[in-house]
Amino acid sequence: MLSTMQDVPLTVTRILKHGMTIHGSSQVTTWTGESEPQRRSYREIGERSARLAHALRDDLGVTGDERVATLMWNNAEHVEAYYAIPCMGAVLHTLNLRLPVEQLVFIVNHAADRVVIVNGSLLPLLAPLLPHLPTVEHVVVSGPGDRSVLDGATARVHEYEELLAGKPATYDWPELDERSAAAMCYTSGTTGDPKGVLYSHRSIYLHSMQVNMAESMGVTDADTSLVVVPQFHVNAWGLPHAVLMTGVNMLMPDRFLQPGPLAEMIESERPTHAAAVPTIWQGLLAELTAKPRDVSSLTQVTIGGSACPPSLMEAFDALGMRVCHAWGMTETSPLGTVARPPAHAVGTEAEFGYRLTQGRFPAGVEARLRGPGGEFLPWDGESAGELEVRGPWIAGAYYGGAAGEPLRPADKFSEDGWLKTGDVGVIGPDGFLTLTDRAKDVIKSGGEWISSVELENALMAHPEVAEAAVVAVPDEKWGERPLATVVLKDGSTADYASLKEFLAGRVAKWQLPERWAIIPSVPKTSVGKFDKKVIRRQYADGELQ
Ligand code: ADP
Repeated sequence: MLSTMQDVPLTVTRILKHGMTIHGSSQVTTWTGESEPQRRSYREIGERSARLAHALRDDLGVTGDERVATLMWNNAEHVEAYYAIPCMGAVLHTLNLRLPVEQLVFIVNHAADRVVIVNGSLLPLLAPLLPHLPTVEHVVVSGPGDRSVLDGATARVHEYEELLAGKPATYDWPELDERSAAAMCYTSGTTGDPKGVLYSHRSIYLHSMQVNMAESMGVTDADTSLVVVPQFHVNAWGLPHAVLMTGVNMLMPDRFLQPGPLAEMIESERPTHAAAVPTIWQGLLAELTAKPRDVSSLTQVTIGGSACPPSLMEAFDALGMRVCHAWGMTETSPLGTVARPPAHAVGTEAEFGYRLTQGRFPAGVEARLRGPGGEFLPWDGESAGELEVRGPWIAGAYYGGAAGEPLRPADKFSEDGWLKTGDVGVIGPDGFLTLTDRAKDVIKSGGEWISSVELENALMAHPEVAEAAVVAVPDEKWGERPLATVVLKDGSTADYASLKEFLAGRVAKWQLPERWAIIPSVPKTSVGKFDKKVIRRQYADGELQ
C-alpha cells in the first residue's frame, strides 16, 4: 500500500528557496585581501543565482542537463554557480584547479563542458588548456585577473558581472526529478584516469540534512563557518548546500589559503567553525606558534580527507579549537563517518580515543567489512578488512560519458552494488570506524601488515618533527618494508638514530623502519594530502637514499 504523504521532490532548488527567504539575511563573506571583505546576503546570492541562470540560458544557450564547469576558488560567485546551474536543470561540474593539466583536459573533455566559469586569477591556468578543450564554447570570467591571456582564444569570452547586469532577479525554476544529476566531481585519479561521480538533487538534499545534524557538524545560524576545504573538493564537504538549510554564515577564503591570511581572517571575521584537511591545520598551527593571534572565536574544527594526527588534535585542543574528525570520499558526497564521542564516554578517559577514530556511521550510511577472501568480518574492533558502504548519498557507479553507460568497475563496486572504499580498518561493536590505512598504502612486511598511518602519527608526536610520511618500499627479504620520510622543524638537530629511538618506545620493534630520509617537505596531492605515489617514485629513482 502506498502512503498518503505528499511526494515532493528533494531538490537543490528547495534548499535555495529556503535559504534565500527564511535565512535571507545570513551572509557569504569572501576574503579579498583588501581592507574590506566582500559581503553578500543569502537573499542576494539567490537573486544573483537567478540572474546567472538567465544569462546561462538566454545568452549562452545552456539547456537540459548540460554540464557547466567552474574553475574557481571558494567565493560568493562560486556559491551562486552552485545554485544557478543545478536549479535550472543543468549539471555543475567543479574543476579541481590543482590537478595535473593533462587530467584537467581529460575531465573537461570527458564531461563535454560547453561553458566554463573561471576566476580571473586562474586564467593563466585555463588559457593554455583551451586549444585542447574543443567542447568549450564560452568562458565566463569573474573577479580580478589579467584578461589579455585569453586574446586569440576561439571560445567566446564574457564578463560575469556584465552577463548578470540587467537580468531578472527571479527565475521560474523548473520542477526537477530528484534523481536527476545536479553536480559532478571527478576523483583525483591516483590510479588511471579520473572517474566522475554524479550527485543527484536527492543525494545532495539528504546529505545536507546529515551535515547539519548535531551528531555531524551541527552548526546553526549563530555560527560562521570558515570553508577552507575547496568547493572543487567534494563540494566543500557539502557545506555550501547545508548552510542554506540552517542559515549558517560562510566565510570564504578565495585564493588566500596560506597560513598567514587564514590566521588573519579568523582573527578579524571571528568564525566559530572551520573545515579543512590536516595539512592546512598543520600550517596554521605553525603560524600561530610563530605569531600568536586571537583565534578564540573558533571553537569547532572539522578535519577529514586524511587521518588527523593525535598531536594535531592535542595542539588544537590546547588552543581551544576542538577538533572533530570525519571520514569520507568523493564517492560518499563525502560524509561517511563523524567522530563525536558517545555520551557515555564524554568526560572519561575513553573520550580522546573515540575522537581519534574516523567516527561513527550516521543512519544514512550502511557499512560492512570484507576480509581478503571476500568474507564478512565481525564488528569486534579487531578484525581488519576493507570497508564497503551503501546509502542514499553513496555513488553506485561512475559517469560513463555522454554516450556511455554508467561504469561499475569490479574493484570499486561489489556484485550487490556496495561501494568498495579501498580503505582498510576495523569497526567496533558500537559502530565506530578506525582506519588503519588505505589498501594501497599498507606495508605488507612478511606475512604482517604495518599501518603507515600509525608510524606517521607516532613520528609526528616528536616535538621536532613537522610532518612525516611513511611508504612501502620493496625489500628482498620481507617483500615490503617501511620508508620513513621526515620533515624537521626549523632549528631541529634530530638525526635518524634519535628518531628511531623515539619511535621504538611507541610501536612494535619489527615495525621500526630501517630506511629513513629527511626531506624539505612532503609532496602533496591536488587536495593537500600526502602524495605517497611521488615519494615511492622518488625512492625508486634513488632520490631519497
Ligand atoms: P582522493 O582519492 O583523491 O584522496 P578523496 O578526497 O575522495 O580523493 O579521498 C578519499 C579518501 O581519503 C578515503 O578513501 C580515505 O582513504 C581518505 N580519508 C578521508 N578522510 C579520512 C580520515 N579521516 N582518515 C583517514 N583517511 C581519510
